[in-house]
Amino acid sequence: MNLLEEIKEAKRIGIAGHVRPDGDCVGSCLALYKYLQNARPDASIKVYLEPVTAVFSFLYGYEDLDSTFAADEPFDVFIALDAGDSERLGDARELFLAAGKRLCFDHHLSNTGYADKNEIKPEASSTCEVLFTHFEKEYIDQDVAKALYTGIVHDTGVFQYSCMSRETFGIVGELIGYGFDAAKIISESFYEKTYVQNQILGRALLESILFMDGRCIASCIDRRMMDFYGVTSEDFDGIVNQLLVTKGCEVAIFMYQTGTLEFKVSMRSKGNVNVAEVASYFKGGGHARAAGCTMMGTYRDVINNLSKHIEKQLS
Ligand code: AMP
Ligand code: MN
Ligand code: MN
Repeated sequence: MNLLEEIKEAKRIGIAGHVRPDGDCVGSCLALYKYLQNARPDASIKVYLEPVTAVFSFLYGYEDLDSTFAADEPFDVFIALDAGDSERLGDARELFLAAGKRLCFDHHLSNTGYADKNEIKPEASSTCEVLFTHFEKEYIDQDVAKALYTGIVHDTGVFQYSCMSRETFGIVGELIGYGFDAAKIISESFYEKTYVQNQILGRALLESILFMDGRCIASCIDRRMMDFYGVTSEDFDGIVNQLLVTKGCEVAIFMYQTGTLEFKVSMRSKGNVNVAEVASYFKGGGHARAAGCTMMGTYRDVINNLSKHIEKQLS
């Protein structure tokens, strides 16, 4: 897809990413925001996202993010980023559907191509990588580069996961050439934790359980615990990845309570189990090694239901 060609006539352009925005989602939305401002100074560009943690406030355009999801009139073009299906756009979905033309850039295997024009690259590390390959160099500046770099850092676990390819490393090299403090982005947006975030991580590890002969590990934080530590879902980043480093574990499950008998489930796999398949069965989605869904029942019910599907793949 030729992005600038697709938006040539557009005067009003909307951008949105998925609900509970992560680093790749925020990075891709803000990179595209600045890129379009550079390439199309005559157009009005708006970015809609659910409230974004202040961890990303160093990125250009953070203050301009709109979480009200209000628009005076339909957009000429609306661009969905890092969202595998239109439901994942949350309150931005209506703005997306009402637009004159809909575009999508994504890297989710489960993406079925719900826009008018789609650029879906499951082999790409991140939506930021997909965007970079569609950007014209003359409109990339340091702000754009920084945002793309941030997204890649977050979706690759700091260049670590198997989704890192030779192309990704090449792109990272080019981005670093724009001269920002790359090490600072890694330490402050990825690794840094508040005191309570570390406490809740410790608690989740302490209460984790091993099952399926030690090939699965799971942990759950319930409402009571969230209230006790005064934490929200934003504070759970990294817990599921820490669970997965356990020797002998193939799959890690982390869940937190979102309602009475309702849990948000995050799964990670070392590669032998496709957790996207497991999540899809429960109406979620994601990638082979990182996926999520929302499930009903008690902690025990959820683990039992997930186990059945994980076991099928492990045996
Ligand atoms: P998480 O475990 O929330 O960090 O998500 C891991 C991956 O799965 C990300 O790529 C998410 O976009 C995707 N994902 C998480 N929850 C859902 C869901 N309910 N539906 C579809 N995809 C999801
Ligand atoms: Mn994402
Ligand atoms: Mn992503």
